[in-house]
Amino acid sequence: MKFNELGLSKSIQQALAHKGYDTPTPIQAQSIPLLLKGEDLLGIAQTGTGKTAAFMLPSIQHLAQDDREPSPRSCRKLVLAPTRELVGQIAANAREYGALSALRVASIVGGTSVNKDKQKLARGVDILVATPGRLEDLISQKALKLDSTQILVLDEADQMLDLGFIHALKRIVALLPKDRQTLLFSATMPKAIKQLASQYLTNPKQVSV
Ligand code: AMP
Repeated sequence: MKFNELGLSKSIQQALAHKGYDTPTPIQAQSIPLLLKGEDLLGIAQTGTGKTAAFMLPSIQHLAQDDREPSPRSCRKLVLAPTRELVGQIAANAREYGALSALRVASIVGGTSVNKDKQKLARGVDILVATPGRLEDLISQKALKLDSTQILVLDEADQMLDLGFIHALKRIVALLPKDRQTLLFSATMPKAIKQLASQYLTNPKQVSV
């Protein structure tokens, strides 16, 4: 299996070749075609499997094809992750893959300047990567609204629950349109994750690596 068999655009294939990737990992091979079709996805995968590219590449392609500008103080895609480190890694990946299409990427984590975050969001962003706590702060300060966000990714969902983010997640997800694409990744599938998945995903495809 090669990246050119998955339905990805030429510019994304070039970005991958530039990074020296020619073979998709199993989670990428299974997820990318489904995500390009707009399916919801429940991914059971650990860090190190290549899941970040799996959930970034199809939506970068989708956002780049539909080149409407994000409205001020909004994001077109929201990725929630449990820790600052993970948010940093995901945003770095998104910047790398999204650079060719000039997508605007921002990351939002606690322990940094709220005013800088507000500036990042003022013009609107294509892809926002955030921890749930700081995201809620910014929403409550009217620096961000989620009513036009088309794609939601919950990454390392089991970790987010372990860190006590369940109520924040529920409040955040309630602000997104019902008509959206939702992806949930988790290394483990305890009952609480199954419940989240059944609430937030619509007819999801499941991939497990
Ligand atoms: P992740 O599981 O998303 O944290 O990715 C784990 C590591 O694998 C990261 O360093 C990626 O840059 C790398 N990686 C992702 N996809 C591929 C691929 N198709 N070929 C080689 N390396 C990859």
